[in-house]
Amino acid sequence: MSLALTGLGVTSGIALGRVHRLTPGELSIPEYHLDDSAIGAELERLHKAFGRSEKFLSDLLARMGSEITDTARDLLEAHRLILRDPMLIDSTAGRIRNDRINAEWALVQQADQLQNEFRRMGDAYLASRREDLEQAVGLVSRELADQPALMVSTQVPHRLENIVVVASELGPADMTILSQRKVAGLITEHGGPWSHAAILARSLEIPMLVGVPRALDLLNEDETVILDGHYGAVLTGVDEGLLDHYREKREASRRRRLDLRRYLTKPSLTTDGQPFVLLGNADLLHDFERCHDAGVEAIGLMRTEYLFLDNDLPDEDTQYRAYRQAVDIMHGRPITIRTLDVGGDKLPDILGFTKGPNPALGLRGLRLSLSLKDLFTQQIRAILRASVHGPVEILLPMLTRTEEIKQARKIIDECRQALSREGLTLDPAIAVGGMIETPAAAIAVDALAEELDFLSIGTNDLIQYVLAIDRSDELVDYLYDPTHAAVLFLLKRIQKAAVHHSVPVTVCGELAGDERTARLLLGLGLNRLSMPPAALPSIKKSLLDASAEHCQQVLQRWMDAKSTEANADLLAQLSPE
Ligand code: PEP
Ligand code: MG
Repeated sequence: MSLALTGLGVTSGIALGRVHRLTPGELSIPEYHLDDSAIGAELERLHKAFGRSEKFLSDLLARMGSEITDTARDLLEAHRLILRDPMLIDSTAGRIRNDRINAEWALVQQADQLQNEFRRMGDAYLASRREDLEQAVGLVSRELADQPALMVSTQVPHRLENIVVVASELGPADMTILSQRKVAGLITEHGGPWSHAAILARSLEIPMLVGVPRALDLLNEDETVILDGHYGAVLTGVDEGLLDHYREKREASRRRRLDLRRYLTKPSLTTDGQPFVLLGNADLLHDFERCHDAGVEAIGLMRTEYLFLDNDLPDEDTQYRAYRQAVDIMHGRPITIRTLDVGGDKLPDILGFTKGPNPALGLRGLRLSLSLKDLFTQQIRAILRASVHGPVEILLPMLTRTEEIKQARKIIDECRQALSREGLTLDPAIAVGGMIETPAAAIAVDALAEELDFLSIGTNDLIQYVLAIDRSDELVDYLYDPTHAAVLFLLKRIQKAAVHHSVPVTVCGELAGDERTARLLLGLGLNRLSMPPAALPSIKKSLLDASAEHCQQVLQRWMDAKSTEANADLLAQLSPE
């Protein structure tokens, strides 16, 4: 019988292979009370279980050596830190002593309390911290139950080239082992696009589907499946014809990826000789390596939110180390570091804020940074310290008015002066740019450009705010239309303002890395595009094959017509022939 299961494709790749189900076996958590005389031994049992779990992670890190990606290393380190956190270990020991209960029960209670605190903060970002806690606690629970956490390393074969692993969910330690064994694809019942496993799968380019309900029940051991990350589907009961079709598709996309790489070294000129510039968006250290290898001139956007995922709040030194590592990887090529763009629905409890009624219109981006001067100061100091080791620019998110830029610049100046007094020699004119991603910023762009050294267009937010569609709401997805006259009008306005004020302008939203829309941007005169590393080869090829003049003419005609209908025809006229 054939079956199609659906989930969320976190990478667009295709995998073919036989199913291997990873079933850890239910852990039962015993609950009992202790006599006073047994408490000492129970505490010792708890500490030993924590010790063995930490050793498991240290051994894994040591064994993987240089084969492990930075992302995976960071996540495993985060789990190690959780295992040392007094909020977990000391408080669990306290429960054993005070409530006279066994270690497993005390641990579950303490973890539940922490999980509830995280849950109250309720957002996708913090869900990842819950995930960290769950995975770290899971290791200790297994140790206490004498079922140590060697599950993945002992339960999967050594070679996984033709295997699609199906699991309830996967942690960073599992992902590390599976990737080292060259797994063909991954399917999990739980987890969202921002789960650690998803982030790692993207970074390691492993085809993966998350959120496939009852996958472990519905997929049988050893049956052949096709995983199509693009359509978010798993197909079973497939015949040889379909398998051949997918083999060809997979092979064609592999060949295409390899073939496209050769364009990366060609001069960036359109067929009619107009220059364009491709830059990289990098969130994780691994992305910097890939951007560097792809030969980008610079990093157009470093999102710093990711640093705030694993620590409660990373202090100045922690941030400095991360920015410094990025600077070192890029070897003199500039990095545009965006200051923290969270708020409203992200981190409010940690920062002492209550969630506003409409997070997208609330205290996010620079607004939040300006209301938390200490936090902003720490980040700016860390960025300035990293700038001593290589070229760095500062990018301010979610602007609406010039006053915000003036306030941010004042803090940047104060930090610079303080660091100079501390003996650091800093570039006196570090560039400060602004994200143009609200309608207000786009309409008032001339005034903002006066105060800024460069502009960066965040099309993801700009489209959301201009068209009044929540970018994360699939019910209004059909209205997401970059060819809407209002969007094009504002993009053109920003481009003209940048020329008028002689400031560089980059597009760093998803439109820049989409083959269908990169030419649209070129047609608007926006020729500095920043995108995730995976998009660089295909966009390079698409722009090398484009005539800038043709794109400009098509765009001009379309803008003159002022259509508000989504129009596939416009994109078709711009498509690669
Ligand atoms: C954007 O809004 O286009 C952008 C690049 O920023 P983010 O997606 O991080 O909001
Ligand atoms: Mg944005």
